[in-house]
Amino acid sequence: MVLADLGRRINNAVSEVTRSNVVDQNVVDTMLKEISNALMEADVDIKLVIQLRKKLKNKIDIDNDNDKQLGINKKKIIQKAVFDELCDLVNVENVEIFKPKKKQTNVIMFVGLQGSGKTTTCTKLAVYYQRRGFKVGMVCADTFRAGAFDQLKQNATKARIPYYGSYTESDPVKVAFDGVEKFKKEKFEIIIVDTSGRHRQEKELFKEMIEIGEAVKPNQTIMVLDASIGQAAESQANAFKESSNFGAIILTKMDGHAKGGGAISAVAASKTPIIFIGTGEHIHDLESFTAKQFISKLLGIGDIQGLMEHVKTLNLDQSDSIKNFQEGKFTLKDLQSQMNNILKMGPLSKIAQMLPGGIGDMMNQVGEEETSKRFKRMICIMDSMTKKELESDGSLFIDEPSRIIRVARGSGTSVTEVEAVLLQRNMFARMAQTTKNMQNNLPAGMGKN
Ligand code: GDP
Repeated sequence: MVLADLGRRINNAVSEVTRSNVVDQNVVDTMLKEISNALMEADVDIKLVIQLRKKLKNKIDIDNDNDKQLGINKKKIIQKAVFDELCDLVNVENVEIFKPKKKQTNVIMFVGLQGSGKTTTCTKLAVYYQRRGFKVGMVCADTFRAGAFDQLKQNATKARIPYYGSYTESDPVKVAFDGVEKFKKEKFEIIIVDTSGRHRQEKELFKEMIEIGEAVKPNQTIMVLDASIGQAAESQANAFKESSNFGAIILTKMDGHAKGGGAISAVAASKTPIIFIGTGEHIHDLESFTAKQFISKLLGIGDIQGLMEHVKTLNLDQSDSIKNFQEGKFTLKDLQSQMNNILKMGPLSKIAQMLPGGIGDMMNQVGEEETSKRFKRMICIMDSMTKKELESDGSLFIDEPSRIIRVARGSGTSVTEVEAVLLQRNMFARMAQTTKNMQNNLPAGMGKN
């Protein structure tokens, strides 16, 4: 089961509880069972699932009739408990996350098996830091695979990142050392060392990682893990942990059809935080990772915090919408201004992922170009509405269906398409309400990550 389905199933399981009139042990048990099954089908390690189920059961603890009466309160407790436990699953506590400092050298060494996406991720991270004003260089210390240096060179050139490597030197330790020294002398602030991911013998690979580590003394070692390899991720992470004691993980290929659960288990087992996830083959497909944002997105609550931050940096006009949203409201006019902004924000795929269910799914199913076209038609539909209709929650249309026909005619679209716009507004409104409820119910600072 892919991650999007996992989120949907957990969400449905929780919704069942929030929809029931009475919240008793039976209802809770059914939810716990469904959540556990969904997690296992997504490849999350069974031990972790059992643990999560126990903790959830303890937290929810329906033990007397009073509890059943509490109704709404109990439902909120359940929603929050599920959210917290899922966050715990991907969160590693008490580990300081490395933050490179300006005006000093920060060496970052990458380890991971061949094919995991290491070289691609080195470039993505280099670009990430370069955009944040760091002077970044890349070193190719993979002398084992023919073509490794060419690949790094090609990536680096495309991204305009200075690089170092050798066609003649076969000792990876020497290349790594020389590259790092060269960039150090030139006052580079971040030096990323890409290493080999394969050897004639596994033992030799790990020995090489130790030697390179000793030579370049990294401030941070990052293990790159392919999220699509399922349960195998755990043994891979353990094997590398012994030789390179990496302090952070980047999960790649979290786009597409990765189950992701196996990789999440690997993270739990290695007690190492995920710092970024790779979400595509393009240089910018790297997202910083925080447990709360990841789980929010997984559950289709949408990564509103991330979206708002993104919007802030783009200086788009949407202060009213954000205010409405934070108050748990959402009118058709808000939907119209959001869609206009989204089209300006591009690339659409990045933004769509932060939005609740419908739009993200549309994007996955029909692709960027078609989504963009459909967005424009939706905006066109809203352009054909009156001010009163736009500023409403859409219920006007339910009371007077002739309005739908008028708008469809006016915008040159169909009744179904107008109805789809109304549905989309409903989804946003629900998300606004959920976000507001969660903000109100979460402990200070939570959800404001
Ligand atoms: P390496 O052998 O570990 O250095 O792996 P590469 O960087 O050569 O990547 C192997 C393949 O995975 C390439 O085709 C990459 O384009 C692809 N890849 C890397 N990261 C991602 C990702 O986040 N998503 C997707 N879909 N593909 C990725």
